[in-house]
Amino acid sequence: MDKPTAPKPGAMLHLRGNTLSEGDPVALPLTHSSMYHVPGDWNGGPSYGRADNATWEHLEHVLGYLEDAPVLAFPSGMAAITASLFATVKAGSRILIPSDGYYVTRRLSERFLQNLGVAVEQRPTDSFAEGGFEGFDVVFAESPSNPGLDLCDLRAVSDAVHAAGGLLIVDNTTMTPLGQRPLELGADVVVASDTKAPGGHSDVLMGHLATRNEDVLQAARDWRMIGGGIPGPQEAWLAHRGLETLEVRFDRMCNTAEVLAQRLAAHPLVQKIRFPGLASDPSHELAKQQMARFGFLISITLDSAGQADAFINNCPLIRAATSFGGVHTSAERRARWGDAVAPGFVRISVGTEPAEELWSAMAASLDALQT
Ligand code: PLP
Repeated sequence: MDKPTAPKPGAMLHLRGNTLSEGDPVALPLTHSSMYHVPGDWNGGPSYGRADNATWEHLEHVLGYLEDAPVLAFPSGMAAITASLFATVKAGSRILIPSDGYYVTRRLSERFLQNLGVAVEQRPTDSFAEGGFEGFDVVFAESPSNPGLDLCDLRAVSDAVHAAGGLLIVDNTTMTPLGQRPLELGADVVVASDTKAPGGHSDVLMGHLATRNEDVLQAARDWRMIGGGIPGPQEAWLAHRGLETLEVRFDRMCNTAEVLAQRLAAHPLVQKIRFPGLASDPSHELAKQQMARFGFLISITLDSAGQADAFINNCPLIRAATSFGGVHTSAERRARWGDAVAPGFVRISVGTEPAEELWSAMAASLDALQT
């Protein structure tokens, strides 16, 4: 199988620039307007701020270039995930979601979809295709899963879901379109939180949905316009600004993660490590096939919650925080949110700090646990 290749991030930087007229600003203008000038009959142009905004439309244009598909921007990753499900399920639908993916997707399904007559089933990501997909209208996958970093074979899942007559949605948050291309692997819809690496500076929430399926696109657009969950122009502007440096940051973060994972794996206090880039990782062969990079998330298991907290809190180059994908390396003990992981399980999001400086700080914090 040919691994889908990433788009050209250099051309992405000039998408707008190549359309400019003399005197136009090179940086993206920020349009704050709820009203548009519409004299006489409406001719289909921008009319009202819940339906149209030039700043978020340009963000969609850039994300659409990266996804190579039409994109809708949403005010958070969860807003995009919610739109993807409300655009595709109805009362009586049967859906499959990961039992070990981002926990709020499970909460959305259990708290709301089930009440509307949608049957929700769950399966672990590493055995997602086992049992087949017969009878599922919508299958929602997340690979690598957050926080366990298990993978499922997206091409095989997509073929099997389609053979069973279903539709596949993939949450690609952990990889970004530069690291993995689910639409090229057969997915019908990609959703992602751009709050993570695309925004990249931990200062904005944003999300998007990408699909070449016209019906899903229209339904998701209507969901956003009618429901009113639209991105704010300022946030869209910040997310766009983040995207402009995504390639540089993502490259550095993935490179550093590869170095750190090797060293963490060799540390005597690290009982278990998951990183798809390690040759010893159960997902390594699949990762090599379907991912352009191995990502910037590493999970390690230390002996106890106390050890995990001490490792995080005593390292001056790790921010103790939830979320991931920012320029600052961050980490957290995921059991604190109820994820089914060991008490000493730590998800590390590798930032853009130079690798050796970061490793020195991490190693010192780990070594201090032994004394
Ligand atoms: N999907 C995954 C895999 C996530 O990790 C997250 C957030 O952590 C989300 C979706 C939701 O994104 P947001 O917080 O932007 O709503």
